[in-house]
Amino acid sequence: MDITQYLQIKRILEGKNVTLVAVSKFQDISRIQALYEAGQRDFGENYVQELLEKQAVLPKDIRWHFIGHLQTNKVKFIAPFVHLIHGIDSGKLLREINKQGAKLGRAIPGLLQVHIAQEETKFGLSEAELEALNLEAMPYVRVLGLMGMASFSSNKELVRHEFASLKQLAERYRQALFSGGDYILSMGMSDDHLIAIEEGSNMVRIGSLIFGARQSKAAAGV
Ligand SMILES: *Cc1c(COP(=O)(O)O)cnc(C)c1O
Repeated sequence: MDITQYLQIKRILEGKNVTLVAVSKFQDISRIQALYEAGQRDFGENYVQELLEKQAVLPKDIRWHFIGHLQTNKVKFIAPFVHLIHGIDSGKLLREINKQGAKLGRAIPGLLQVHIAQEETKFGLSEAELEALNLEAMPYVRVLGLMGMASFSSNKELVRHEFASLKQLAERYRQALFSGGDYILSMGMSDDHLIAIEEGSNMVRIGSLIFGARQSKAAAGV
């Protein structure tokens, strides 16, 4: 595993107060281990089964971020150890996380995913849905911020506008959602992380830029 790209990204993020989540979906254990040895602790996964297999064998101080679309019936498997669930995209999922957290006596950290892209395909809450969530009734979910994905587009101004709108939303609901305090803004991937940081991101989720192009799920055998 060549960690040149990784070190370069770390250099760019240095001093910017931006957390790097290395997105390791479809990457094998040895490559994750190599990054771990280079000092990386935050890793992001999209699939529950794959995450469980990796978590079982990799060092216990890895902070596992769940960044994919989480099905309610799978929350229980990751609830005991997950560091941050990025994609809370419905009231139903929020209630299920709260339920599993209550069973464990653990307030599970999560981010509310907001739909910011023009594309119909991306998951996320609308602003109206965000406003309607009753977080006070859910003490076992610790909502720490917002997450969003911009359109998959070469139109940089569109992408910038979408990130800026997420930042605005976080500021607008800062008091209601985060008691007016600091919050996590998870936005930016390989292709758009620099724009995201300019627009206020403090957590980026980067996969292919670190690891190289991903294999397909089938080819990776996961
Ligand atoms: C796969 C994925 C990423 C990383 O994508 P890259 O383009 O490889 O950096 C980030 N966020 C989410 C939600 C993902 O599914």
